[in-house]
Amino acid sequence: QAKAAGRNAVRFFSPAMQEAINARSAMEAALRHSLQGDGFRLFYQPQVNLDTGLIGAEALIRWFPEQHQAVSPAQFIPVAEDSGLIIPLGYWVMQTACRQLRLWANDARTRDLKIAINVSARQFHQPDYVERVREALQESGANPARLQLELTESVVLENVDEVVERMQQIRALGVTFSLDDFGTGFSSLSYLKRLPLDQIKIDQSFVRDVMTSANDAAIVRAIVAIAQSLGLQVIAEGVENQAQLDFLTETGCRVCQGYLFGRPEPIEDWTV
Ligand code: C2E
Ligand code: MG
Ligand code: MG
Ligand code: MG
Repeated sequence: QAKAAGRNAVRFFSPAMQEAINARSAMEAALRHSLQGDGFRLFYQPQVNLDTGLIGAEALIRWFPEQHQAVSPAQFIPVAEDSGLIIPLGYWVMQTACRQLRLWANDARTRDLKIAINVSARQFHQPDYVERVREALQESGANPARLQLELTESVVLENVDEVVERMQQIRALGVTFSLDDFGTGFSSLSYLKRLPLDQIKIDQSFVRDVMTSANDAAIVRAIVAIAQSLGLQVIAEGVENQAQLDFLTETGCRVCQGYLFGRPEPIEDWTV
């Protein structure tokens, strides 16, 4: 085909690029299809306070496309974001989590547990986002205080004043906020001071090598100190082994999430 077009033909896409584009639009179509059906599920991963025990779960989306293996969110969330599908998908996540909270409210063992959901920047900036949070809470009857929204630093890249105002409106409903993947983005510490947060989440990339990298250990210590001085809860994600846990304990981080405590699982597999 390139030969036929001749040596000097202008090709906008190399075969590899064209293949990537085709794969992407195939994935987009499959995502759209799954959204109409029931191709998505929420898995829940425990969050543990070392002093008091289980405090809640992070809801993590799982995609089971027809005739395919499960696809990792790291692969399909960017496609969902670019195509705008993240908007309906994100609302589905919020509604599903709120319904789960309502179910948990019936049982004394689960009543006080919170559920954290991941909110993409694009969704958070939708003009009607606050209203949609309110709706999801009302329709489900979930206790707003049990819902936590995880934002990443990318949310703050736009207009900080606007983000702060929006967060305050949502907090007025009773919902809390966590800053996910903290330390991996580009937002400055002055933003951190201004955002009405409840929790910051140490990114797993720092936790992973805490025993072997003096730099990562120093970063984790610094994040814990910042959280403490700002009066924020700090949680470590990606805690996989006892050595990491011991280090975190020593730094004063008392809340953890990771395979050491439990993997993300369907709610039916949870034993509380
Ligand atoms: P995240 O929010 O930072 O979630 C933590 C990721 O770390 C999850 O990957 C989780 O399964 C994984 N993880 C938990 N404990 C451990 C551990 O001990 N070791 C290791 N190596 N990994 C651990 P997952 O489920 O593949 O999700 C990846 C990312 O996709 C999430 O990162 C989040 O940014 C995004 N994501 C997941 N669900 C949603 C969703 O419902 N909406 C949006 N917008 N994004 C989502
Ligand atoms: Mg998260
Ligand atoms: Mg994270
Ligand atoms: Mg992450």
